[in-house]
Amino acid sequence: MSIQENISRIKAQIPKDVQLIAVSKFHPIQTVMEAYNYGQRVFGENRVQEVCEKYDKMPKDINWHFIGHLQTNKVKYIIPFIYCIHSIDSIKLLKEVNKEAIKQNRIIPCLLQVHIAKEIHKFGFTEQECLLFFKENREKEFPNIKFIGLMGMSTKTDDKNQISKEFKTLKDLFENIKSNYLPLNKDFSELSMGMTNDFNLAIEQGSTMIRVGSAIFGERQY
Ligand SMILES: *Cc1c(COP(=O)(O)O)cnc(C)c1O
Repeated sequence: MSIQENISRIKAQIPKDVQLIAVSKFHPIQTVMEAYNYGQRVFGENRVQEVCEKYDKMPKDINWHFIGHLQTNKVKYIIPFIYCIHSIDSIKLLKEVNKEAIKQNRIIPCLLQVHIAKEIHKFGFTEQECLLFFKENREKEFPNIKFIGLMGMSTKTDDKNQISKEFKTLKDLFENIKSNYLPLNKDFSELSMGMTNDFNLAIEQGSTMIRVGSAIFGERQY
């Protein structure tokens, strides 16, 4: 299957209002350009150096989404061009992104990453921390960040019920925050959940952005 066929097949499976983020990490520019030439304009990357290089060398009408753990000392490199950051996993990172955004005169759309999986190593806020953040109106401390929603990753398991349950937890948290703490905020509207193996389950639970790599570009060579 070609990259074009993969994108068509996935798009045919998902509702029009769900955004497909093509996760191009570890794939060379030449490969990523095949998706671009087919019309894909939204890509996800998880390493600073790689996204900077692709931004430099690829067409400028691409929206680059940052989806991986971001070290504070590298934030400054992506602020000039990054379209959105899905993986805000600490207050410290939020502070740094806001600081650099002020310096570089940008407003950065961000999602808070919430730890919904069973694995202990995954990054992110706990549900309680996330809820408290908005309950205490802490978003007001970060004027150059636009809070657009939440992101989460499910446990790596074949148990579909488990995965669906985790996605539902994130959806419920999102709705809770929206209705109780951000009722007038139209920006807070995105739920980034679902990857190659679970995007259908994620969409069933209300995902608005799916981050799909392998199903488009094939296996990654690390
Ligand atoms: C790599 C990655 C993806 C894409 O994973 P696939 O299983 O290849 O679709 C999605 N989200 C995040 C955060 C990732 O790091």
